[in-house]
Amino acid sequence: MFLVNPVLEYILNIFNNGEDVDHWYNNLSIDKIKETRELNSYNYDEITYYYEKFKYLELHEQLDSYNIEDDINFEIEENDIISSIANSNDIAFEVTEQCNLNCVYCVYNDFYQGFEKREDRNLDFESAKKLLDFLFKMSEEGNSSYIKELDIGFYGGEPLMNFKLIKKIVDYALSIELKRTNIAFSMTSNCLLIKKYCDFLQKHNFSLLLSLDGDKDSNSYRVLKSGNNPHHIIFGNIQFIKNKYPLFFEKNVQFNVVLHDKNNVNDIYSYFYNNFNKIPSIIELSDAGLKKEKMVEYEKMYRKFDENLISPSMGTNDLELLNPSSIMVTDFIIHNTDNIFTDYNDLLFDIKRKKFPTGTCMPFEKKLFLSSKGLILPCENVPHKFKLGTVDSHGVHINYKEITDLYQNYYKMIFKQCKHCYSQLNCSQCFMQLSDDEYNGKCKMFSSYNDYVSYLSFIQGNIEKKPLLYVRAMCEITIS
Ligand code: SF4
Ligand code: SF4
Repeated sequence: MFLVNPVLEYILNIFNNGEDVDHWYNNLSIDKIKETRELNSYNYDEITYYYEKFKYLELHEQLDSYNIEDDINFEIEENDIISSIANSNDIAFEVTEQCNLNCVYCVYNDFYQGFEKREDRNLDFESAKKLLDFLFKMSEEGNSSYIKELDIGFYGGEPLMNFKLIKKIVDYALSIELKRTNIAFSMTSNCLLIKKYCDFLQKHNFSLLLSLDGDKDSNSYRVLKSGNNPHHIIFGNIQFIKNKYPLFFEKNVQFNVVLHDKNNVNDIYSYFYNNFNKIPSIIELSDAGLKKEKMVEYEKMYRKFDENLISPSMGTNDLELLNPSSIMVTDFIIHNTDNIFTDYNDLLFDIKRKKFPTGTCMPFEKKLFLSSKGLILPCENVPHKFKLGTVDSHGVHINYKEITDLYQNYYKMIFKQCKHCYSQLNCSQCFMQLSDDEYNGKCKMFSSYNDYVSYLSFIQGNIEKKPLLYVRAMCEITIS
């Protein structure tokens, strides 16, 4: 499975056959090199280099063989799920399905299927309270940190259309005495109502993720029900908060942009940097759940992040890390080094965290998301058929066995592709975001040997061109 230089591969074969590599190397002669098909295009110094590399890997215990077939037997146990819940740093509430925008690319609009039809439902307070009580109890009793940070997030629709519930949940959460859990609040909003509620949001130190696609033209897919582009209202609201609470704006407000055919990466960065001194997150249009008949329209709108170059004249050094090729390098580092720590426990103890195969997180590892209908999901981005539990007037219902079966069964379906895929160790594909066609046909992220060779050459070329990038990625990037 691993791609290595042929000399190193030859040495590893000796090692894996149980032969003595030192003995082989000490008896190596020019004549022997010439006689050996795998080695005869290399000179003695080159072979010595790979022998020393082998010794380094051996010394640092990097030579355990990895058997991909073992992953099919991967078992999630009940305790893994309980531990994920107790240690989860995020709970999020879809407080309403109502929205005052009608974005063309919204997953609940015409382009997509598999997401529950929106019926303008509001989440009820009792359900939110039951899930909070459940999580607080698990967290206080079982989280492995001395003090855990817990973010309580609000989504919609447009969450501020149900501000009454947000306020009730915030008041309730703050009224509970917690010894081992620190609470913070966050919200994703389209900005239309933010001026009205900004005092409350500032008072409770909310982290805000505001959605806007750039200037007026760039924002033309984010329209009101009337079809009009509300850019001027949104821009005015943002300026209002910026002027009224400059420090809050600087520290707590971030922007989220969808990339499409009406904007581009360069203009997006310029717009947010020049107007708000911010560097936004940019996401591509999702194709999870895309209707087949919408494919042509989707392809017209879709723009790939790495087709867009960032203008070097933008000036800020931070942009270097946001360049698409830099993101690929950091992603590679994240998946391929042991130097990534999720908390201080990882630094202090040799904890081997269980990782679900593919890019899917362990159930509830990222968050508990409660939909307005009372479905508990592993995050807001997955179709509702992947519900992992429910909340109703009787309480919280999570059947651990059903969850393990669900994960196991879906993984079995995709495994027939994964076992031939060279992205297996780098995979960032969540199985809940694959279409039925991809289970039966080809996963869009599948990587053949040749794909992977090109990918590795690209990564290596980038690190060679910008050696400081590795250092910056290791020192400055925080994974959330
Ligand atoms: S999309 Fe999948 S991998 Fe990502 S947070 Fe949601 S469940 Fe986890
Ligand atoms: S990219 Fe797709 S096929 Fe490859 S390992 Fe990930 S889920 Fe499996």
